[in-house]
Amino acid sequence: MNKCIELANKLIKNKSLEIEEYEYLIENKSEEVVDILNKEAVKLRQEVYGNDVFIRGLIEISNICKNDCYYCGIRKSNSNCTRYRLTKDDILSCARLGYELGFRTFVLQGGEDPYFTDEVLIEIIKAIKDEFPDVAITLSMGERTKESYESLWEAGADRYLLRHETANKDHYEKLHPEQMSFDNRMECLTNLKEIGYQVGAGFMVGSPYQTSRNLAEDLKFIEEFKPDMCGIGPYISHKSTPFKNEKSGSVDQTCFLLSIIRIIHKEVLLPATTALGTMDEFGREKGILSGANVVMPNLSPDDAKAKYELYDNKIHSGLEAAENLKQLDERFKKIGYKIAISRGDIKKGSK
Ligand code: SAH
Repeated sequence: MNKCIELANKLIKNKSLEIEEYEYLIENKSEEVVDILNKEAVKLRQEVYGNDVFIRGLIEISNICKNDCYYCGIRKSNSNCTRYRLTKDDILSCARLGYELGFRTFVLQGGEDPYFTDEVLIEIIKAIKDEFPDVAITLSMGERTKESYESLWEAGADRYLLRHETANKDHYEKLHPEQMSFDNRMECLTNLKEIGYQVGAGFMVGSPYQTSRNLAEDLKFIEEFKPDMCGIGPYISHKSTPFKNEKSGSVDQTCFLLSIIRIIHKEVLLPATTALGTMDEFGREKGILSGANVVMPNLSPDDAKAKYELYDNKIHSGLEAAENLKQLDERFKKIGYKIAISRGDIKKGSK
C-alpha cells in the first residue's frame, strides 16, 4: 500500500499522527487519499451532528483596530479603510432581527477597538442576555487580559473565537509586526479555556510564508489543544495591505484540512467560513461536504458589512446575508443537510 494511504488509515484509527506524518500527507496527497479522509469525516460528522448545520449570526461591531496584522484589511495602517463602530443600540437591533430570523447564537466580532472596554462590552452582553436568555453569545474581539476575559464571562459571554493564526512562532512573526506576540496569543487561548468558555482557534490556509510543515504544526496544535471550535478558511489578499501581491489559499486545500480536523476531533464545531464562500460560489457546500457543520451568516447593518473588509471582495450579500436564511437552507437541502434552529453547542461525549 502506498505510504499516504497507510497514513490516512492510521489517522482514522488513532485520530492522531506525528507532525512529520501530517506533513507527508499534506505534501503527497492523492485524490484517493482525499476521498478516503473525506468519507470518514462526513461519517463522523453525521454520527455526532446528523444533517444539522448550526447557524451563528455574525455582528461585526467595529472595524477600528489598534493592530497592524500584515494580512488584514482592517489593520491600523490601512488609510483606505472607512472606519465605523456600532453602538449598543445598533447591536441590539441586529440581535432582534437575528432572533426573529431564528438565530440563537450571536457572534460579536471586531478589530481591537479600545472603545470596547470591559464596561462597554459587559453592558452589551447583559442587554442581549436580558432580552434573549436562550441565546449564546460568542465574542471575537482579539487579545485581552485574563481579568477582562473573566469579567466578560461573568457578564454572560459563552464562547470566544480567537484564531491562533499559525502554530509556528517564526511563521507568526512573519505575519505580524513586532508588537504582537505569538506567546501572548497562545496564552490568551489557554486563559479562555481555563475560565470555561467554549473556545475557538483556527488559521488561514495558504497564508504568506506558510509551509506544509506549518500546516502540520497547526493540525498537531488542534489535536493537543482540542478547541471546541476551529475556524479555517483560505487566505485572501487585500489590496491595501503589505501582502497585496501574495497569492491566495485554495478551496481544495481548505476542504482537505477540514476533513482532517473533523477526524482528529469529531465533535469540533467547524464552520464553512465566509472566505470559503468568497472564493467559490459553492464553497459553503464544499465545506459542509468535507465535514464542516456551522455557517455564520452576516447580521451586521448593510453599511457596516461593506466596511468590514478583511480581504478583497469579501461577500456579504446574497446567501451570506442573514435575511436570506431560507435560501441558504434550500441550498443545504439540495446536498442533504438542513439548518438547525438552536444554540448549537458542542456535543461532548457522543459515542
Ligand atoms: N480582532 C479579532 C478578529 C479578527 S478578524 C481577532 O484578533 O481575533 C477574524 C479572522 O479573519 C482573523 O482571525 C483572520 O484569521 C481572518 N482574516 C483576516 N484577514 C484575512 C485575509 N486577508 N484572508 C483570510 N482571512 C483573514
